Amino acid sequence: MSMRRRTLLKVIVLGDSGVGKTSLMNQYVHKKFSQQYKATIGADFVTKELQIDDRLVTLQVGFLVQFNGQERFQSLGVAFYRGADCCVLVYDVNVMKSFDSLENWHEEFLKQANPSDPRMFPFTVLGNKIDIDGGNSRVVSEKKAKDWCTSKGNIPYFETSAKEDYNVDAAFLCIAKTALSNEYDQDIYFQAMPETVPDNEQSGGCAC
Ligand code: GDP
Ligand code: MG
Repeated sequence: MSMRRRTLLKVIVLGDSGVGKTSLMNQYVHKKFSQQYKATIGADFVTKELQIDDRLVTLQVGFLVQFNGQERFQSLGVAFYRGADCCVLVYDVNVMKSFDSLENWHEEFLKQANPSDPRMFPFTVLGNKIDIDGGNSRVVSEKKAKDWCTSKGNIPYFETSAKEDYNVDAAFLCIAKTALSNEYDQDIYFQAMPETVPDNEQSGGCAC
């Protein structure tokens, strides 16, 4: 009986409040953008299915939410980031502080998620809102962002606009592929331990 293998990848999106995490997700998953700012309360997950080569992949994307005006990890518990296959760090190219925060988000993620090999754990950085003012109000140069990414072990970097749907698909395809490569390592690990049966209990989706 041949069963198509479905791979579930967990991606965590982090970044300061207002940088566009929810908007990027809405654009990617629903092809929609809203100017209205609605702070996300609690932790949120959305899923998107995509085909990468011959694999059917379900991308489960979780993003952080507001607590007392600040987006933070601590209140969410380990379940939120445990088992993440990739971490996406988002900043707003027009807000220096959101770029400076990447350092903290990066560090915080590694501390909380505690991956087996922190130096190899896949991240992706997105510089969002590049559409604003036709780029005239941007304060973080592409070079500055790329230099930071290089210093952290060559993290892939994308400039995006959730508003104009610029580079969003490309970024998430790269994120999915990066996550997939991390997942592959886990497969090997599972094979080495036959008593561990990976469960694929994603609800929804048809089995045709
Ligand atoms: P989050 O707090 O990181 O989830 O940020 P949101 O997705 O809620 O976005 C915060 C605000 O920025 C909202 O008013 C969005 O409409 C706006 N926004 C998000 N992404 C973009 C973008 O790429 N360009 C522009 N011009 N505005 C954006
Ligand atoms: Mg949000």
